[in-house]
Amino acid sequence: MAIYPKFVADTIEKIGRATTVTQIIDASPRLRLISFASPALQNFRWEPCQVTAFRVAKGEFRHYTPSRLDPDNGTGEIQFLFHSTTGDAPGEHLVRNLRLGDEITWCGLEAPRSFRWAPHPRILVLGDATTLGLWRSFLEHPSVIDGRTQVFGAVEVPDGDQHGAKTITPGLEVITARDVPGAALDTWLEQYLTDHGGQLSLDTTHAYLAGHGRSLQRLRSALQCGGMGRRHIHTHAYWTDKTPIMAR
Ligand SMILES: Cc1cc2nc3c(=O)[nH]c(=O)nc-3n(C[C@H](O)[C@H](O)[C@H](O)COP(=O)(O)OP(=O)(O)OC[C@H]3O[C@@H](n4cnc5c(N)ncnc54)[C@H](O)[C@@H]3O)c2cc1C
Repeated sequence: MAIYPKFVADTIEKIGRATTVTQIIDASPRLRLISFASPALQNFRWEPCQVTAFRVAKGEFRHYTPSRLDPDNGTGEIQFLFHSTTGDAPGEHLVRNLRLGDEITWCGLEAPRSFRWAPHPRILVLGDATTLGLWRSFLEHPSVIDGRTQVFGAVEVPDGDQHGAKTITPGLEVITARDVPGAALDTWLEQYLTDHGGQLSLDTTHAYLAGHGRSLQRLRSALQCGGMGRRHIHTHAYWTDKTPIMAR
């Protein structure tokens, strides 16, 4: 994880979008939805896969993914996972302590070139509980609502959060995470490939994989073995076993 000099972090934060917390909803013990409002969230083009970051320390940021963004009204939502047992990881600590009316700056709002939304006819999504907001933004995209794009797949979440996750991503299969991150997704995909493998070689299906880094590598390999072309598999690692993936 890169740590920025303070003056660089100051500049990143200064050119960010200052927002106010307007609503906090806990869907289940580890899943918190926070809504934000700001004139700075108005008048720009927003698409799924764009991510922002919050400054969590002098030179450190953590990334989060808006699940909804309404540039007409200047409002946005982010779905957070409380992943730690102690609650003192810097990102989680910041999010847990946000209160109604608090101000917080969204630093950046972009999608990496390698992981951008496109309205493919069929999209297979696989991820862990940090990706629930991302998949919600897929499921609520106009091309999915009007039936041009079909989104399907599975998300693995901690035991106790299955019901909350189901309310966030209805239409996806919610499966229970095991001790090893990604193990439940491996099993789901193995079964899916057994049942539907032949369909993956069709040009119409793309896969979006996000969440735990090493799990994505396994899922990607399984999809390729199942006949999916490399260019149809889009991955974005959200965290690793030791550190967050992206610097800010
Ligand atoms: C582009 C991008 C978008 C993201 N979007 C979201 C989002 O919308 N919602 C969301 O909740 N998270 C999201 N994340 C993940 C989030 O940024 C990481 O989980 C981050 O590490 C949290 O920071 P922290 O300070 O709480 O923990 P850190 O200090 O970064 O990590 C502390 C310890 O916790 C472990 N850890 C980190 N995340 C997890 C996890 N999910 N499960 C288990 N152990 C973990 C680390 O390996 C480390 O050992 C996103 C990450 C990226 C890169």
